[in-house]
Amino acid sequence: MSPLRIALQRKGRLAEESLRLLQEAGIPIPAIGERLRVPAAGYPLEVYLLRDDDIPSYVAEGVADIGIVGENVVAERGLPLQILRRLGFGRCRLSLAVPKESPIHSLSDLHGRQVATVYPRLTARFLQEAGVEARIQPLHGSTEIAPGLGLAEAIVDIVATGSTLLTHGLREVHVFMHSEAVLVARTENAHELLEDFLFRIDAVLAARRQKYILFNLPAEALAGAVALLPGLKSPTVMPLAEAGWISVHTVVEEGRFWEMARQLQALGAQGILVIDIEKLIR
Ligand code: ATP
Ligand code: MG
Repeated sequence: MSPLRIALQRKGRLAEESLRLLQEAGIPIPAIGERLRVPAAGYPLEVYLLRDDDIPSYVAEGVADIGIVGENVVAERGLPLQILRRLGFGRCRLSLAVPKESPIHSLSDLHGRQVATVYPRLTARFLQEAGVEARIQPLHGSTEIAPGLGLAEAIVDIVATGSTLLTHGLREVHVFMHSEAVLVARTENAHELLEDFLFRIDAVLAARRQKYILFNLPAEALAGAVALLPGLKSPTVMPLAEAGWISVHTVVEEGRFWEMARQLQALGAQGILVIDIEKLIR
């Protein structure tokens, strides 16, 4: 069987997390070093290590079966790709930013001005949708410096924490889109191994979103606790050595944990333990 070919970013913000996802899915990639093409150990998968901007083309042309890349890059390239999974890392947003003292305070204030960006296609699309006419100055990087040097009055760029904008005396005016790393494939011709690969990835992604929790509870509070807990099916309940007390185990979504922990404590729960899950197969 021919190996599944995956395109990953070689160096940069997505590189490490992409390899970690494969590693956690039981597909370890041996030391990459200077290589651009590396076979996985113990799984029929070959990794191509590329510039992130090139990943959509490699996948769209069928040279790689799948790829991991920022949704912003996928959207900019506009190739016929499908997003198979959103991966929950590399989160950022595509925003309009201007110098702190600029008279531009909203997207419509950009009308008739010049904007520099590494994302000319997306910028043109979003400006058109908003009915704003501005000149787009395409760049290949370091857009933050363009307003200060007088090349443009505004930039459209990726923002994560906003600290880069702050460093360059820029202020965020408008958010066009949110982005995260995505797993993409061509729109047709799925590789025969893709289903097995996705099964593994899904187990890792599900586990990352969930926590295993266990706590001690007065037995008479069980019905109240069960009503609070979603769990996979229903919680596991075990008697404690001390009469009238039980131990309750279940799986909860991380985002709901804090609210639930307070409610459980109000029911008399003690010693609430929260444990990371490595894989979760539903
Ligand atoms: P390459 O050398 O592969 O072309 P790059 O410099 O274009 O890399 P990176 O800066 O490594 O790209 O960013 C890769 C992706 O990571 C971005 O396209 C975006 O989806 C995501 N990302 C997450 N946080 C940030 C951030 N703070 N700044 C820029 N990109 C971010
Ligand atoms: Mg790039």
